[in-house]
Amino acid sequence: MNKAERAAIVFKILEKNYPKTPVPLRHTNNYTLLIAVLLSAQCTDERVNQITPKLFTLADNPKDMSKQTPETIYEIIKPCGLGPQKSKAIIELSCMLQNLYDGKVPKDIKALEKLPGVGHKTASVVISQGFGQPAFPVDTHIHRLAQRWGLTKGKNVKETEEDLKKLFPEESWNKLHLQIIFWGREFCPARQCYGLECEICKATYPKRSRPFSHKKP
Ligand code: SF4
Repeated sequence: MNKAERAAIVFKILEKNYPKTPVPLRHTNNYTLLIAVLLSAQCTDERVNQITPKLFTLADNPKDMSKQTPETIYEIIKPCGLGPQKSKAIIELSCMLQNLYDGKVPKDIKALEKLPGVGHKTASVVISQGFGQPAFPVDTHIHRLAQRWGLTKGKNVKETEEDLKKLFPEESWNKLHLQIIFWGREFCPARQCYGLECEICKATYPKRSRPFSHKKP
């Protein structure tokens, strides 16, 4: 079986299991989505969703957020981890949005990547889920699954993203990104899974008998 055939199997199984892909992070606009994605670094979406109602009641736009002190924000967001860095980034990026983009989130991945605390993955999520433009955010979880499913030999998330973009049609990227995350959460929570257990691995590698170890990102 070649890579394209495995991709077709993965696509079919994910479509069957997750026909709908609601955005997991609570938000009311692209700015609150950007902040929620920033907060989700090294934190669960569930925990982010617990704290953002309070944060967004305080400020749900760059202008109001830029008037807050890092201490006020830190007190609210500290359950998400990396509180000092994240609160500083939230204030700084809100000031930048206010000064450079008239308080709006730019619909441009390169511009987003220049904001404090915003890397390529965060920017891709906002482009995809906020603006509905094609993007394929790849984190370490998707990187790991794509290797187990034989869709990439990428040594890092960047190479895996390039491979996935070549394998799947552009119009499916946004949905697939979420579908893979949902599958990972439901079936592949443990790093220790060696690709022998469930439907996708059995279908993509019916003859796999030895534990598969993924490359570290
Ligand atoms: S066998 Fe393991 S790696 Fe493969 S899909 Fe199932 S849980 Fe994920």
